Amino acid sequence: MVARVIPVDPFDLVVFGATGDLARRKILPSLFRRFADGQMPPEARVIGAARSPLSPAEFRAHAAEALAEYLDGVPPDPASMAAFLERLDYVALDAGDAAGWQTLAGRLRDDVVQAHYFSVAPALFADLAAGLDRHGLNRPETRVVVEKPFGHDLGSARALNAMLAQHFDEGQVYRIDHYLGKETVQNLMAVRFANILFEPLWNARFVDHVQITVAETVGVDGRGSYYDDAGAMRDMVQNHLMQLLCLIAMEPPHRFDPDAVRDEKLKVIRALDPVQPGDIVRGQYGAGNGAKGFAEEVGNPGTRTESYVALKVGVSSWRWKGTPFYLRTGKRLRARASEIAVTFRDPPHSIFGEEAPWRANVLVIRLQPDEGMTLRVMIKEPGPGGMRLKDVALDMSFAEALGEGVHIPDAYERLIMDVIRGNQTLFMRGDEVEAAWAWTDPVIAGWSERGDRPHPYDPGSSGPEDALMLMHRDGRRWREIR
Ligand code: NAP
Repeated sequence: MVARVIPVDPFDLVVFGATGDLARRKILPSLFRRFADGQMPPEARVIGAARSPLSPAEFRAHAAEALAEYLDGVPPDPASMAAFLERLDYVALDAGDAAGWQTLAGRLRDDVVQAHYFSVAPALFADLAAGLDRHGLNRPETRVVVEKPFGHDLGSARALNAMLAQHFDEGQVYRIDHYLGKETVQNLMAVRFANILFEPLWNARFVDHVQITVAETVGVDGRGSYYDDAGAMRDMVQNHLMQLLCLIAMEPPHRFDPDAVRDEKLKVIRALDPVQPGDIVRGQYGAGNGAKGFAEEVGNPGTRTESYVALKVGVSSWRWKGTPFYLRTGKRLRARASEIAVTFRDPPHSIFGEEAPWRANVLVIRLQPDEGMTLRVMIKEPGPGGMRLKDVALDMSFAEALGEGVHIPDAYERLIMDVIRGNQTLFMRGDEVEAAWAWTDPVIAGWSERGDRPHPYDPGSSGPEDALMLMHRDGRRWREIR
């Protein structure tokens, strides 16, 4: 099946931080794929900007290396690669310095979409915003893309929003949470709002509980000092898991339109109950299997930062009162797996008798690996031995269902094209981010006030024992991380 590709309007995309890790691993490969698919029109251009004194030709060589390394082992077609590299330009520029900006201004065209991707440390965002203003590069329709982390707490997120508001309208600002660009995450909205099947059951009367899991096998991966400062609560829960929860819990927006969708997500965040200290478990991986423990990896022997967190939270709304949401995420776990599992309640009465084995229906939406959906349903076990029941999976892998050769796009491919299209639906609005921090901050403050230490867990396990208890005491269990 060949996906229909609608080219976007011609654009100049400036990637500040174009020599950095994110640009190499995600931004440049994503742009290449969109180009190779015919979505980038011939007039589109990507202008790299960073302090390194590279010529445009040297930057193209750098980009070619990144593509060779990060296109998931699929060697780029040489003709497409050469044509793509021709679209690349480079300007050496220090965000806080006047030099370079005039050169950049001279390279931008007035008659195309202009977008500026801030793929640099957040400490440089203010310099970049001021630089764009000072050099006449901030037109009313100019767009800026802001990477995560968006603040460290409510105060810093407010300050960042206020800084951006001094320069840009909210309609110009694209705050990235790349989870929202994942195909399966968008599918969540399609499943909920394009099918009649689920909506009548999508509430506390029929849903027993929801589990959201983002499990990683990697450790802090060279980002030790950032991670020791952030921890799983800030790095994953406040943004990615929160966004997933919103998409599951939100009311149907009246249209698939940026503000209608974000208004509904915001209502969910505001309806989240405060997390009680007994409803959250933190963990920190120890050493094992030849790998260093968390404290050694981040170079801070006494660190109390969590590499794992599991929590239970309620949503105080008519739809969800009484259905707990269990969230967990961690590093160095048994497997890399991200999924949302909606577990339905048991039928009110079993006509097959009390002894018939019973399993609740579960709808599982897998974000990785093997993006897809599974619905567990009860059927009759085949054979003449009476009415024996069995639960089976109606399993759909998107890759299989959509046919051989369908490439499930990386989140950044979708998101960057949405910036060019001017569609903010899959980007976080300033008030959403602040509401998420307002809910997160007291949890983190509570840990430091109480002097809580994270529970140790073995690398390669499914997290600390206490996290299992969080579910067991409610008569429920986590799905296995496989
Ligand atoms: P990085 O590898 O450290 O790259 C930083 C980039 O900024 C480099 O291109 C660097 O190039 C440039 N730079 C540094 N100081 C500059 C200055 N004064 N003026 C202009 N350019 C400057 O960082 P990264 O990992 O790519 O991360 C970039 C952003 O994405 C950060 O906000 C990060 O939090 C976010 N992010 C990254 C990842 C990831 O997987 N890497 C994931 C999620 C979010 P020069 O040294 O040549 O100037």
